[in-house]
Amino acid sequence: MKKSIKKISNIVTQITVGEPDFPGVSPPNMWLVAGFDRCALIDTAYGNVDEIDAFIEAWNSAGSLPLSNVILTHRHRDHIGGIRSIRDISGAKILCAPEEHASIVEEIGDVFINQVTDGTKLHLGGVTLEILLTPGHTLGSLCVLLDEESLIFTGDTILGGSTTVISPYHGDMSDYIHSLRKIKSKNPKNLAPGHGELITDASKRIDAYIKHRIYRESTIVKALDEGIIDIDGLFIKLYPKLDSRLHQTARDQILSHLNKLVSEGRVQVKNDGTYGLIA
Ligand SMILES: [Zn+2]
Repeated sequence: MKKSIKKISNIVTQITVGEPDFPGVSPPNMWLVAGFDRCALIDTAYGNVDEIDAFIEAWNSAGSLPLSNVILTHRHRDHIGGIRSIRDISGAKILCAPEEHASIVEEIGDVFINQVTDGTKLHLGGVTLEILLTPGHTLGSLCVLLDEESLIFTGDTILGGSTTVISPYHGDMSDYIHSLRKIKSKNPKNLAPGHGELITDASKRIDAYIKHRIYRESTIVKALDEGIIDIDGLFIKLYPKLDSRLHQTARDQILSHLNKLVSEGRVQVKNDGTYGLIA
């Protein structure tokens, strides 16, 4: 399996194992951050043997300082699968957002996971990580600010190569747009995503993400205004040529936008399940 261990600065190492999957989504990144006294790891990938070996190799290259914390950006399997192995190897304390805790425990089983609040700081010796709760992709998604490098680790809130998916079932589109603005307000220079390469034009990328969501919402409002009343109709109108493997994801995105519009009182769900603009 293809393995990449890339030092992006004296402090940060990107660890990635595997090849891009359909539709071009890169394999998950683990990010190792080394201070003078301690290290922390952001995300644990799937936890397969090659990934764990790559983590150990990167940790050794970073001087094998004690790994004080593993921070989980969110609940998805490709970010939490290595928790048990990495905890056993390192004894690190595992952290996640409160809203994500139950789902992660359910997925991974009997591993003790601490819950962090917004603004929690982790001191690694000359390097400080700050937790930013950024719900949206999932309700308990978080990002991590490394102020010394003007860098934010974004998990799946912002990806290296494409826009992300906001699940209508365990994510929230309104929260997501707020979270993008929150990330932007920290003025990061670079973003270290959960998949894909380091993003070096952070502000531009965040603006493009916000613009994309606002544009998508406006196309849904316009279609509702033209008399389209359900997800099937909106899907045909908005995604006429989409690869069939992405159909469900696209429908989910439409539903996430509709949920947002309903919560804002701009759209109503009628008794028969159809949607309509509120005049
Ligand atoms: Zn995810």
